[in-house]
Amino acid sequence: MPDTVINVEHLTRRFRRTTALDDVSLEVPAGTVMGLVGGNGAGKTTLIKHLLGLLKAKTGSVRVFGLDPVTDPVGVLGRIGYLSEDRDLPQWMRVDELMQFTRAYFPQWDETYAAQLREMFDLDPKQRVKSLSRGQTARLGLLTALAHRPPLLVLDEPSSGLDAVVRRDILAAIIRTVADEGRTVLFSSHLLDEVERVADRIAMLHNGKLVLSDELQTLLDGHTRLTLRFAEPCESQPSLPGALSCDGEGHEWTVICNGHVAELRTAAEKQDATIVEEAKPSLEEVFVARIHGGSRSDTPANS
Ligand code: ATP
Repeated sequence: MPDTVINVEHLTRRFRRTTALDDVSLEVPAGTVMGLVGGNGAGKTTLIKHLLGLLKAKTGSVRVFGLDPVTDPVGVLGRIGYLSEDRDLPQWMRVDELMQFTRAYFPQWDETYAAQLREMFDLDPKQRVKSLSRGQTARLGLLTALAHRPPLLVLDEPSSGLDAVVRRDILAAIIRTVADEGRTVLFSSHLLDEVERVADRIAMLHNGKLVLSDELQTLLDGHTRLTLRFAEPCESQPSLPGALSCDGEGHEWTVICNGHVAELRTAAEKQDATIVEEAKPSLEEVFVARIHGGSRSDTPANS
């Protein structure tokens, strides 16, 4: 298996006047759990569709296992387990029929594992797909994506519809096991605390642009959350060069920055403020600061 499972270079995709992907370049090394994050309409599903060959790269290139998913769909799709955002499973089939049907496409289908997953997900083999609840449909979609033990698992919003127990315990454990076996996972999610729990690497999309792509730990270590206490209450957001975002009211304001701590310290002192806490932010705080804090780069939010 190549060291790099996914290789996207300068991929741009436009739908009429919407630029869904804007010069995106991304590498996913083998054995990685890559969390693909971004707000609504950021371009996550469009990127995934290119990886599956459902969309053809018009500008730039897409390689999965070194192959072009559009010209070599068998070589690529045979090695991918995919859970779509819409969970579009054939409604007229029963659970056991869908399992048999999917098995026919994948020589590596693991019957014992499939049965274990069905038990674990508490799915009735005789139940029709159309009568399953949203969560049960998501479980069945996951089962069919997993049971052939694909070298690459692509999950579009896997948590959507799943209850907290399945999300936190089962899904997270499955993703970790897949990675521990040297296989690769790419999953998109809005639930950043869950992404933080399982991902090794993060790719953050915003308005079609890849704004961050790094190892999770490096990304978190590179950012700092400072809590500032001002001697006098601030009527409006204080001007703090180096801040990616600044939230609060009155005496107390919280700043997220990447680097620039000394600069912020000086600016705080000048404004008669003391830093009462310095801590590592969560992925969600970094995301909000990066996406909604008004900055896409090292440009300070308030300068
Ligand atoms: P969400 O988290 O809401 O599912 P996303 O990050 O998956 O969003 P995409 O579905 O990739 O985002 O959409 C990116 C942008 O491209 C959006 O503005 C969307 O409206 C647009 N888009 C996607 N597919 C099409 C299409 N087939 N035709 C027109 N516009 C499209």
